[in-house]
Amino acid sequence: MQSTTDIAIIGGGLAGRMMALAAARAGLSATIIDKAPKGDLEADAFDGRSYAMAHSSVRMLRKLGLWDHLEQVSQPILDIKISDGPVHGTPSAPLLHFDHHDLYEGPMGHMVEDRHLRPALVEMLDEVKTIHYLDKTEIVDAEQEGRYLKLIARDGSDLRAKIAVCADGRTSAFAKSVGIGYEGWDYAQTSLVCALEHEHPHNGIAYQHFMPPGPLAILPLKGNRCSIVWTETKENADTIMSLDERAYLDVLRPRFGTFLGKIKLVGQRYSYPLNLSLARKFVAARTALIGDAAHGMHPIAGQGLNSGLRDIAALIDVITEAKQRGEDIGADATLARYQEWRRFDATALSLALDSFNHLFSSNNPILRAIRTTGIHVIENTPSLKTAMMRQAAGLSGELPELMR
Ligand SMILES: Cc1cc2nc3c(=O)[nH]c(=O)nc-3n(C[C@H](O)[C@H](O)[C@H](O)COP(=O)(O)OP(=O)(O)OC[C@H]3O[C@@H](n4cnc5c(N)ncnc54)[C@H](O)[C@@H]3O)c2cc1C
Repeated sequence: MQSTTDIAIIGGGLAGRMMALAAARAGLSATIIDKAPKGDLEADAFDGRSYAMAHSSVRMLRKLGLWDHLEQVSQPILDIKISDGPVHGTPSAPLLHFDHHDLYEGPMGHMVEDRHLRPALVEMLDEVKTIHYLDKTEIVDAEQEGRYLKLIARDGSDLRAKIAVCADGRTSAFAKSVGIGYEGWDYAQTSLVCALEHEHPHNGIAYQHFMPPGPLAILPLKGNRCSIVWTETKENADTIMSLDERAYLDVLRPRFGTFLGKIKLVGQRYSYPLNLSLARKFVAARTALIGDAAHGMHPIAGQGLNSGLRDIAALIDVITEAKQRGEDIGADATLARYQEWRRFDATALSLALDSFNHLFSSNNPILRAIRTTGIHVIENTPSLKTAMMRQAAGLSGELPELMR
């Protein structure tokens, strides 16, 4: 390991790498440390997800110089239509329709495929001299050394950093090692993810169809393609994943409906078991948590990565402010400003999505009545609907510089 850096980033997933780019833009050196081999994380088929990137996240991708690589291959999300219904049977007519014209900001966001986002990040990071990457490395201990934190790896080597940014995913091992605990629970649900080709155009519309075992999101990709996030109980998902492609599509079709014509699988199928994992604190001495390490939330509204980007943008703002004032960027007071900015919002969002999942993934007649009334109120209250759209597009609340 080289001996000192401004920021040591533990975890080289999307949040960790994005943090490194944002740090470089702010004039800070960064070292990413990941326990996995770099080649594995950068392999074409590593991750089958496509991300609904909120309007504010797209602004950040643009400021970080990534959007030039992504714009041509990303699909604008114009409208969102929400319906519900049983597993076997036609989805209801849309109960809620979010129309991007009501937002006055252009599309509500863009669908960005992991297979495009990850290589774009790799390419950009490789060009930045102040970013270093250490793979197959695990930090096992940390000690305070004046204005630095000394991070000690399993092989005995060490690295001194002004701040350690913890981006090692849900229930971070590093956060736990510095005394940060977690709250959370297992959803006993799994999201099945794949890309489909379909006969009719999607016209940039994203669909969310709620069914008792979990929601099915149909998210538009470039061309006549979509990405699905199909959430089922864990048992159902295990069975469905074990089917061959033809049988998999046979189970999907009644849930999917016929509005996009014939469908066929493109590429591999993936599955992601779901849980909630919320850090009790977002900071410790010279340490800040970002991304899923801070808040691993339900993917029901596609907000996890968006929230992680907001963490990064907020953290960079408080660090930059401290640097401009000549303060210690890793001081408790600096990191406390970050925690104050992000912890309440990210925790509230995670818990709201948790309630949303309980409310919609249920056949209970009382819960069904509550949600029908709630949806009716939203659909018929334009100001409430616009406020929800602004929230989903990441445009409400105090926006950090990278998202303005
Ligand atoms: C089905 C599904 C669909 C989703 N769709 C959306 C969407 O549409 N929009 C959206 O905004 N979000 C979405 N999300 C959420 C989004 O995928 C995550 O929030 C995001 O990928 C988390 O990135 P991360 O870098 O924080 O964590 P991770 O991707 O978990 O990365 C953690 C990294 O840390 C490394 N690591 C782990 N332990 C250690 C250790 N001890 N030492 C060093 N390194 C370590 C790992 O190897 C890994 O590289 C979705 C999630 C799911 C499950």
